[in-house]
Amino acid sequence: MDRLTSAAVKAKARELGFDACGVAPAADHPELRFFDEWLERGWAGEMSYLHRSADRRRDVRRVLPSACTVIATATVYNTNRPYSTESADLGRAHIARYAWGDDYHDVIGGRLQALLAWMREASPEPFDARAYVDTGPVQERVYAQQAGVGWIGKNTCLINSDLGSWLFLGEILCSLPLDTDSPALDRCGTCTLCLEACPTQALVAPGVLDSTRCVSYLTIELRGAIPDALQSGIGSRVYGCDVCQEVCPWNAKPAMSDDPAWQPRRAWDQANLASLSGKSDAELREAMRGSPMRRTKVAGLRRNLAVALANKRNAGL
Ligand code: SF4
Ligand code: SF4
Repeated sequence: MDRLTSAAVKAKARELGFDACGVAPAADHPELRFFDEWLERGWAGEMSYLHRSADRRRDVRRVLPSACTVIATATVYNTNRPYSTESADLGRAHIARYAWGDDYHDVIGGRLQALLAWMREASPEPFDARAYVDTGPVQERVYAQQAGVGWIGKNTCLINSDLGSWLFLGEILCSLPLDTDSPALDRCGTCTLCLEACPTQALVAPGVLDSTRCVSYLTIELRGAIPDALQSGIGSRVYGCDVCQEVCPWNAKPAMSDDPAWQPRRAWDQANLASLSGKSDAELREAMRGSPMRRTKVAGLRRNLAVALANKRNAGL
């Protein structure tokens, strides 16, 4: 059996539904070092799991000591529904696009496990490996950039020049010395549209996010009340925020997915505040089953709906 190659892994990744795949060295990339400073500044807010995993996030070799390469994947989740910035209707309930369909941890995690199982069959030599999607102790955007999958934009999202930034990332750390790709080059240029459009000024510098001001953090990660000073910035966003991606020129003609997993569930599809608020807890719980939105539970969604409804009232609507 021939040695497993990067080209073979990428071909299999495509076959399994990944839209982009690259390979990065499991090295001490300088970009990994900013994370400590970001934590020290308190920009992680209540996300204590980031502090707990900080040591491992410094380098994937602290997670898998034998790691030699990181296979980075990206999967388009965009669908054909309009952007929230295309609607001035404060009665709409805006939910971040990534949360419309099935839980990506389950779907992408399953596909990564399928890729890994195939690699184990195809490789003549045994190897160590671990797969992660989003919640693992891995700075996955840094590895995706190093793998040539895209660059980290000023909005902190990974942007692929062909696909846009509506991407789920996932990676396999492995001990195989696969051929690696060249890092992707930053193509933001002089653009600052995302920084200007952020409704809560959470992008405090290019590529630097103060999560404690970000609508995604406030509506999803934060437990308890949303600070008064930031409530108006929430607008009609009841779960996450897409503004800094919607205004990005690289998402002007983004790739779209027809994968059933990412199509909007009926309860969230172009929903409005009144109809969502009128649903019973049982109905909301049912709609959240197997969805990323189960993270806030029904109580968190109701808190966000109350803020959005107050914003609508304050606007005299
Ligand atoms: S997700 Fe929304 S609130 Fe957070 S940085 Fe982007 S535009 Fe700002
Ligand atoms: S909006 Fe402009 S600056 Fe922001 S990520 Fe997109 S290209 Fe980069």
